[in-house]
Amino acid sequence: MYQAPRGTQDVLPEDQPYLATIEAAIRRMAGLYGYRRMDTPIFEATSLFVRGVGEGTDIVDKEMYTFEDKGGDSLTLRPEYTAGIMRAYLEHGMHTRPQPVKVYTIGPIFRYERPQAGRFRQHTQVDVEAIGESDPALDVEIMSFAAQLYSELGFTGLSFQVNSIGCPVCRPGYVHSLVQYYQQHREAVCPDCRRRLARNPLRLLDCKEERCQPVIEAAPRVEHDLCPECSRHFALVLNYLDRLGRPYVLNHRLVRGLDYYTRTVFEVWAQGIGAQNALGGGGRYDGLAQAIGGPHTPAVGFASGIERAVLLMREQELAVAATPEPPLLVATQGDEAKAAGVSLVNAWRGRGVGAGLSFGERSLRAQLRQANRAGSRYVVIIGPEEMAAGVAAVRDMASGEQETLPLAVVVEALSARVQPTQERDG
Ligand code: AMP
Repeated sequence: MYQAPRGTQDVLPEDQPYLATIEAAIRRMAGLYGYRRMDTPIFEATSLFVRGVGEGTDIVDKEMYTFEDKGGDSLTLRPEYTAGIMRAYLEHGMHTRPQPVKVYTIGPIFRYERPQAGRFRQHTQVDVEAIGESDPALDVEIMSFAAQLYSELGFTGLSFQVNSIGCPVCRPGYVHSLVQYYQQHREAVCPDCRRRLARNPLRLLDCKEERCQPVIEAAPRVEHDLCPECSRHFALVLNYLDRLGRPYVLNHRLVRGLDYYTRTVFEVWAQGIGAQNALGGGGRYDGLAQAIGGPHTPAVGFASGIERAVLLMREQELAVAATPEPPLLVATQGDEAKAAGVSLVNAWRGRGVGAGLSFGERSLRAQLRQANRAGSRYVVIIGPEEMAAGVAAVRDMASGEQETLPLAVVVEALSARVQPTQERDG
């Protein structure tokens, strides 16, 4: 028997209402904040991620699904959204449109990670990006989008972690003092951190190893090294957050995994979503466009994992709207009656009324049981006797009452009784 590949999962029909609820909330937020949907390919040139996300990051060093296609090109299943969105912005000359260009997208992301609760090799992200503007108010708009999305879904107990990691002017000085400090503590830290010291020093700050914690606590803090522009930008971000009354935690250890971030970084943490606690995260990435060969283009965005949001909805027992079943079910006995049933459901569906036919050759009793389980409102029963009399027995499943209607009027009569079927999600 085959199983879904390790780290992937099937989303069964009964799980879909969670996704539908989350997607509806995202679409609502996008409307409120003025973000339009855009989609990019599931795979991109490998070098886009190597240059954009950066060598020395976990994603590029260890986690990419990279393959050579039959034409010999190296492609990679997207391990994150931002590089592809920025590629599209540059490719389509979107800098000529009113700035910032505000977009969002939803789709699968692929990372070769060690699977565990809340961590998959294929997961789904909603990604929200605002490109072409450096105003700190835009950073706060992105954070507010995230915050309102989570609060509309009903999440409670979230924690907003915020930091600034500076820019190419001030970060090198900070990284230099960090490296100097770590060199004095080389023996105290884990082997991973010794590797990070050479490849990606900022990541030293988010090491989870017990033995590294005291070293991190006493490490130099970036806030003291921010240049005046970065300090001012961060002060404004915090000022706007304060004015909104939005609680946050200043976290000097928050650096995020990817090279392209500048200035503002943030994460939203939650309890009960597996070994990881990040529900979403993002920040400003003014350096990305240049890293992938474009002109300087400031931008800010965030991404949120849909599977972790579903875990949290279940954990916090939040309500989702169930997918409605068709209100009508036609149960038949005999060939003639089945033929009449095929026509009836076709007539209802053609009018926009949801209807199902009971298939196979089961007893009427079994068909009624099926209607009960499916939650049908009315069952239309046609056996040989009804056929002979040109009628259908209509049973109201809520009251158990049954009436007889001529076949010639049953379509009209029941259409009037049930609402038109709403758009189905499944
Ligand atoms: P990141 O760009 O790594 O911060 O990812 C953004 C969001 O995607 C995270 O906050 C998680 O909610 C989600 N996410 C990232 N990696 C995974 C994964 N391997 N499995 C499930 N969700 C993930």
